[in-house]
Amino acid sequence: MTDPHPMPDPDHLKELTVLFVEDDPDIHQLLDRVILRHARTLITAHDGQEGFRQFRSQRPDIIVTDILMPTLDGLAMTKMIREADSEIPIIVTTAHNDEEYFLRSIDLGIDRYVLKPTNPQTLLKAMNHCARALWRRREQESANRYVRFILDIQPNLLLVTNHQQLEYINRAFLKLLGYPSLDHFLASGESLGERFLTRQGDPFPQSGHAGDWIETLLTQCHEQGIVHLRCIDPQQVKAIPFAVTFNALPELNRYIFSFSDVTHLEQEKQRLEIQAYTDALTGTCNRARLQGVLNTELRRAHRHDLPLSVVLCDIDHFKKVNDRFGHQVGDDVLRTFSALVAANIRAEDILARWGGEEFMIVSPQTDLERMRQMAEKLKHLVEHTEFPTVGRITASFGVAQRKSHDTIRELTERADQALYAAKNAGRNRVEIAQED
Ligand code: GH3
Ligand code: MG
Ligand code: MG
Repeated sequence: MTDPHPMPDPDHLKELTVLFVEDDPDIHQLLDRVILRHARTLITAHDGQEGFRQFRSQRPDIIVTDILMPTLDGLAMTKMIREADSEIPIIVTTAHNDEEYFLRSIDLGIDRYVLKPTNPQTLLKAMNHCARALWRRREQESANRYVRFILDIQPNLLLVTNHQQLEYINRAFLKLLGYPSLDHFLASGESLGERFLTRQGDPFPQSGHAGDWIETLLTQCHEQGIVHLRCIDPQQVKAIPFAVTFNALPELNRYIFSFSDVTHLEQEKQRLEIQAYTDALTGTCNRARLQGVLNTELRRAHRHDLPLSVVLCDIDHFKKVNDRFGHQVGDDVLRTFSALVAANIRAEDILARWGGEEFMIVSPQTDLERMRQMAEKLKHLVEHTEFPTVGRITASFGVAQRKSHDTIRELTERADQALYAAKNAGRNRVEIAQED
């Protein structure tokens, strides 16, 4: 292949420091001046040991070395240098051009060969070649640093992956994971995939393939748009919800995932959900929630042929409470009444405000007789409770149980009829719906 830059480019070399290791003073006399004319600084050494010392203390950019030298030869020195720095360009000047030397030097990663006696122009050409490669690498490194800087100053968590594994996570991400740097994280041996949970809080599935979690993350981006990340703060392990999006860079075979913390949005969503399903005055479920509960419970009961009962209860002569003590006191009675009922039903029973001073209790896996007993207990409790300001009140109860093929409407209508019957029979009573 032809060199795309056949002419030496002195500009690159001018910036660099060259270490020239050669035991022959005549060669130094000839080549030192040539090198110095084109490079910024020249450091000289006269054997491998001195060369290695100079390399360590002066940190040159390019090394030019002879092979045969006293104390430590050029290839042994190169081996030591390569262990410390796998990148630094090394040019070897040698009178040997036999195969064994070439093979050894390939193993050592020598960049260029110049045959002795050294032609200054050939050496310069080799140095310029290395300088250009060095310059390109440094440009690339600085571009990488620049990109990383941009990633690091983003407040969002950013993750760069190929199809197989993590390549970069920005500072915000590392902070959440609890690591000071990417190197620390990589050295920990921890798998990033294990930190992720789905929106529902389940761990990502693992089939043992390295890039599985990246696939799952892509699926989550498309389907849910939310994942949780486990982080360890000083007090506890917690899972934080993040909205996740990604950009594919097909030409680089990379993905960039971006995560933004949606804790506040999720909390707000929960708060709004609770608000939408809660009766503002009493804190019990509202009518909309009740409809959902009845729907779910009735279906479940139908499917598994389980008992399900409901009670509709209504405070007796509540209008008089309002008329006599005012609406505020009436409100307090409604709150006390619902708290009393809520405290005396099972955890699996659902209390909802049906409207006004009427409430419904939905009791899964409960037959008519047990429901009647519960209603009697509640009736007794209400009757014997001293309500602030108003004293004693009573309530009436209508009980109904699910029949096969019942709709919500049919079930609740039977409970309503039973309640109506309780009112008609003199109030402060429990009536059960007629079973036909
Ligand atoms: P009954 O024994 O037949 O049930 O008589 P009642 O007076 O309890 O029934 P009625 O339906 O005649 O009156 C219900 C009253 O409840 C009328 C209404 O103003 C009052 N009410 C409904 N919702 C609220 C509320 O949120 N707060 C207050 N304070 N009163 C309410
Ligand atoms: Mg009433
Ligand atoms: Mg009423």
